[in-house]
Amino acid sequence: MPSFARILIDRSEGRKLDYSVPSALLDQVTIGSRVIVMVRNRRAVGTILELLDHSVVPGIRPLVALVGEETSLPPVMMRLANWMADYYCAPIAAVMRSMLPPMMRGETIAGRKVRMVSLVQRIEVEELQRIEKSAPKQGAILKHFEKFPDPIASQELLSRCAASESSLKALMEAGLIRIVLERRTGGQFEAEEILPGKIPKLNADQQVVVGTLEHALNDLETNAMAPSPYLLHGVTGSGKTEVYLRALARTLESGKSGLVLVPEIALTPQTVERFRSRFDHAGKEGAGVAVLHSHLTDAERREEWMRLQRGDARIAIGARSAVFAPLQNLGIIIVDEEHENTYKQEETPRYHARDVAVMRGRLEGALVILGSATPSVESFQNVQRGKYNLLELPRRADGQLMPLIRVVDLRLQGKRAKSEGGLSAPLQMAMTKRLEAGQQTILFLNRRGYSTSLLCQQCGHVCRCPNCSLSLTLHRADNRLACHLCGHGAKPPERCPECKDPDIQHSGIGTQRVEETIRRLFPKARLARMDADTMSRRGSYAEVLGKFRARQIDILLGTQMIAKGLDFPNVTLVGIINADIGLHSPDFRAGERTFQLLTQVAGRAGRGETEGEVIVQTFSPASPSIQHARHHDYAGFFEQEISFREAFRHPPFTRMVLIQIRGVSLEKTTRSAGHIAAIFRKKAPASVEVSEAFPAPLERSHGQYRFHVTLKSKSGIVLARLVRDVSLELKLPEGVIMTIDVDPYSLV
Ligand code: ADP
Ligand code: ZN
Repeated sequence: MPSFARILIDRSEGRKLDYSVPSALLDQVTIGSRVIVMVRNRRAVGTILELLDHSVVPGIRPLVALVGEETSLPPVMMRLANWMADYYCAPIAAVMRSMLPPMMRGETIAGRKVRMVSLVQRIEVEELQRIEKSAPKQGAILKHFEKFPDPIASQELLSRCAASESSLKALMEAGLIRIVLERRTGGQFEAEEILPGKIPKLNADQQVVVGTLEHALNDLETNAMAPSPYLLHGVTGSGKTEVYLRALARTLESGKSGLVLVPEIALTPQTVERFRSRFDHAGKEGAGVAVLHSHLTDAERREEWMRLQRGDARIAIGARSAVFAPLQNLGIIIVDEEHENTYKQEETPRYHARDVAVMRGRLEGALVILGSATPSVESFQNVQRGKYNLLELPRRADGQLMPLIRVVDLRLQGKRAKSEGGLSAPLQMAMTKRLEAGQQTILFLNRRGYSTSLLCQQCGHVCRCPNCSLSLTLHRADNRLACHLCGHGAKPPERCPECKDPDIQHSGIGTQRVEETIRRLFPKARLARMDADTMSRRGSYAEVLGKFRARQIDILLGTQMIAKGLDFPNVTLVGIINADIGLHSPDFRAGERTFQLLTQVAGRAGRGETEGEVIVQTFSPASPSIQHARHHDYAGFFEQEISFREAFRHPPFTRMVLIQIRGVSLEKTTRSAGHIAAIFRKKAPASVEVSEAFPAPLERSHGQYRFHVTLKSKSGIVLARLVRDVSLELKLPEGVIMTIDVDPYSLV
């Protein structure tokens, strides 16, 4: 019987220490259990990596307690953690931590944490008498359990028995009691009555897709090998959600469970509602749905987690971190809107939930479905390479036509558009028409972020990097243009290189003014703004969306966060105030993001009886992203985009790692960044491209200076090995931090 454990300590850079396992805990600990131990004189949390029969460590100490009886990572999640640590060059301890909800990590956080004490087994009378004599306090504790056998909070127990910690410790080491950390949860969920929704008859396209998926699910039962993932490419409104529901129903029938990932729950309440109404009830298809919301309190999140672990719920729906949901016997993983960037976690471990989902599916033998109206270039390329299977829904389920996209050429609007705060005459006219007809409008207002590209307002020319084709960013401080992928620098031109206009250095339309302008031009219109700043309060999304749905708001102005999953039959006009902000952002995915945004937005307009209209304002009307979106031509877009990626060796033709170096001291940080770039260059095999160290687009943030170094290679394995080698060798001065982002999505 193994009675020692090798434990990986959280937040310790991968330190592994051996502890003995008190006999009371022997039958409870497994590989993957989260435990509390003492490291020197401090409590720490860790994960059991191995159980050992022997340990050669002298003076070995016992582990203190389990974090919670149910908190452990099953073997398959440990395998997933190892893969993530390797792939994302992240510390394994950080990966394991991130797999559990905050409350189950066993760290001190807000909220009451209670140590619960319970008896391991009843004690013989003679033994009790013996203990009472030699250690009266311990005896009192045991006698208390004679009368009240239920687990009890340690504080309460100690005060009732007038005993102290040392008595508890002695009893624990003797294997007579055990201590488990638990959190008392406050708010319970209100039980909501949910009625099963009406199930529509599948149309012909859906039948083909569902047939294929059911076939694959049947195969799962006889075949141990997980099938390759399916990419479901269906235009907005084509009925993808109904396909997911059918595939889930089939999975539940076979006794398995299902996981559904959505980009951001608060923004997709309708999608979540459809899953709940189909499955979250007692009827034939009822399976229990756990919703893992980003706006849940920690206690609520824990409760949902426990329902899954206990098997009370067999469906989990959630955003990014729900990919780790503790489902037993997982049969299917669905990633809705798989192209969304919110699946990428922007802190260590910087994983992409879609890619983790694909790996989890492979490890658990579950079917993986990735769905989107605008699949990511990476996923569609995986179809081309034969790694994913393609399923298509090319038509809208309600038989409606895709709305018309009109492109307004801002070059022709000239100074006038500028004076109208960015609302061109055609857009103003369209808005007036909607207000008069009592219909609703959505306007997209991308924030002009941290950086500015040089854009000629006469001809639309943009200064680009000769190596990467990224738009160059203007750094006003030293009046320099820089590429944020390779570090290429240039002097800003005095005149537009294309049309020789001297006005090129002047910035475009200030988007901040749009709200003011709308209020001035349409004083009677009811306007609401929706972005990360105005929506930070819990429930405020739902509130604004509810009002909009109830038609108490005429114009909804927001960042692209409102482009997702919403379905408003009375919206007949969608306007993009300035498509160039996305189009010319210094990012190799700029074109892809613009295409996705326009396509998603177009899908939002005219979902009801009346036909919708989309107006896109831009200085680059001929841009392929805009033109392909306008013609609803994904294939055309992909073909053009993939050849651009290939020509400039961008992902998915290469793998990329972004190294960020930051610190408060400019001098130290600059020096470290240069040093790090030099080490990478020295160690890198010829197949790896290493950039110079250059200031990040967001040069300073939170009082820290930030520098980037980018690495590119055809082989992810070569990159990962290089990063690991360099990290091991590197000694950073105090106050300088280096972060590693594998497959980066944000280059700021
Ligand atoms: P997507 O997820 O592809 O954007 P949805 O699943 O939201 O599309 O479907 C769009 C609309 O069409 C929804 O209102 C849905 O209820 C409806 N719908 C889906 N499938 C069918 C069907 N087979 N028959 C009738 N209506 C359908
Ligand atoms: Zn470049």
